[in-house]
Amino acid sequence: MNIQENSIVRFHYSVSEPGQVSLESSHDREPLSILIGHGNIIPGLEQAMLGRQAGDSFEVIVSPEQAYGEYREGMTQRVPRKHFKNAKLVPGMQVILPTQMGQRAMTVLKVGISVVDVDMNHPMAGKTLCFAVELLDVRDATDEEKAHGHAHGDGGHQH
Ligand code: ZN
Repeated sequence: MNIQENSIVRFHYSVSEPGQVSLESSHDREPLSILIGHGNIIPGLEQAMLGRQAGDSFEVIVSPEQAYGEYREGMTQRVPRKHFKNAKLVPGMQVILPTQMGQRAMTVLKVGISVVDVDMNHPMAGKTLCFAVELLDVRDATDEEKAHGHAHGDGGHQH
């Protein structure tokens, strides 16, 4: 079946800036499962999956607007250190913290005794990204998955 809204897609990916080494890849862990049409992955990647099938492999170049947005100045925030579970914080490190907008990736700028300065821009903000994708399975979402807005089972949410 072709990938469309409310498909569940299980896939491997790696992402890099064009011509550079991989920034992140699923190949060293389990493939990812996502529900199409619910904003679970960046728009440029979701768009590139539509109409494709299990077994397809493809590469797509995604502009910042279709990925993690433009890099914005003035996005530094000071966060109490107790919010970080990881004790070994170093500048330049990427961390994921819960915010009012859900889980967000950010970059550690400066580590103090009781506070940590972070750059709230997504670590891949402002970057044109090249995704290499290998589509493993495609199936229809269950009613429960549609209601929850995410994939269940292998590579998806485990409740
Ligand atoms: Zn769920």
